[in-house]
Amino acid sequence: MAAPSPRSPFLLRAAAGAGDLLLRQCFDADTGTYTYLLADAASAQGVLIDPVFSQHGRDLALIRELGITLVATLDTHVHADHVSGAWLLHRATGCAIGLAARAGAENVTLPLVEGDRVPFGGRYVAVLATPGHTDGCLTLVLDDQSAAFTGDALLIRGCGRCDFQQGDARTLYRSITSRIFQLPEACQLYPGHDYSGRTVSSVAEEKAFNARLGGSANELDFVGYMENMRLPHPGRIAEALPANLRCGRPLQEADTAADGWGPVQRSYAGLPELEPTWVADHRQALTLVDVRGVEEFKGPDGHLAGSLFIPLPELQERLAEIPPERPVVLLCHSGSRSALATQVLIKAGREQVANLRGGLRAWEAEGLALEGADRGVE
Ligand code: FE
Repeated sequence: MAAPSPRSPFLLRAAAGAGDLLLRQCFDADTGTYTYLLADAASAQGVLIDPVFSQHGRDLALIRELGITLVATLDTHVHADHVSGAWLLHRATGCAIGLAARAGAENVTLPLVEGDRVPFGGRYVAVLATPGHTDGCLTLVLDDQSAAFTGDALLIRGCGRCDFQQGDARTLYRSITSRIFQLPEACQLYPGHDYSGRTVSSVAEEKAFNARLGGSANELDFVGYMENMRLPHPGRIAEALPANLRCGRPLQEADTAADGWGPVQRSYAGLPELEPTWVADHRQALTLVDVRGVEEFKGPDGHLAGSLFIPLPELQERLAEIPPERPVVLLCHSGSRSALATQVLIKAGREQVANLRGGLRAWEAEGLALEGADRGVE
């Protein structure tokens, strides 16, 4: 059976499982930040909550591989600890940039206020104002109230700090107890951060066990706790705050330049890839390295004229045969062995390296020529 096309809605429906909503929780280990992808399987439209600038390649790859049309990025607040990936995604996909209107940030195309609904296909998230960590903090509640994305207003067994960015402990106490805790007990709570690997909680759990305001704790307990935390100043605030007041748009366009030598896309598996048609159009400027076995290279599957033939088991020892001055594209039958070969070259310090996406099978499927190919077709 032929593999589904990379943009087939089949992939999204399969990934979403029995339900019609896809929910993916992605993690940035540097800052402990969670990014959430929500997509409606029927329409393949989605939103991305709290994307991280440095994870742009990962987020774009996941959206592309699942065939999702990104409707909007939604930042829960102006972050002080990491730069938002909103503007990069807007530039790459044309999606809207959603952020609280009261944040007053540049480049926002979807200013959000309490009560707004952000639709994606047949689903939506509702906007709940939950200030206190910052005065523009939003909680995004899924249409059926089965899940809420709390940003830094409520973390698992904790909450965001209140000692800068217009933070106020009394305001945060009311936001959590009179807004988030009024959602159904079973509502799953997805935080903006976790530094211990905890991924999800629920309204019932946090009401009972949140270390700062769960159980019988009252406002005085909470405010007393928050005002005595004496936290160190966040390390990245000087960079992150001004950048996020531009929704992550760099001051210099050069800061976002890709590899510069070709339209390289990173796969969700983490590899640089190029499309066969681009490689075919630019092959004179590239070194194409075929890493299949000799019987395949010389066999009826054919090969690309002018490609350098180095079987994968010999690659490590024969790296010096690959000219240093031109970018390298690795290829094999399907793109899997050449993916490993791509990693070998990257580990060896080569910078302009990419895998041929889908390998020679994809090359052939595009109707591009192969030398010596003999499929036995009359
Ligand atoms: Fe925050």
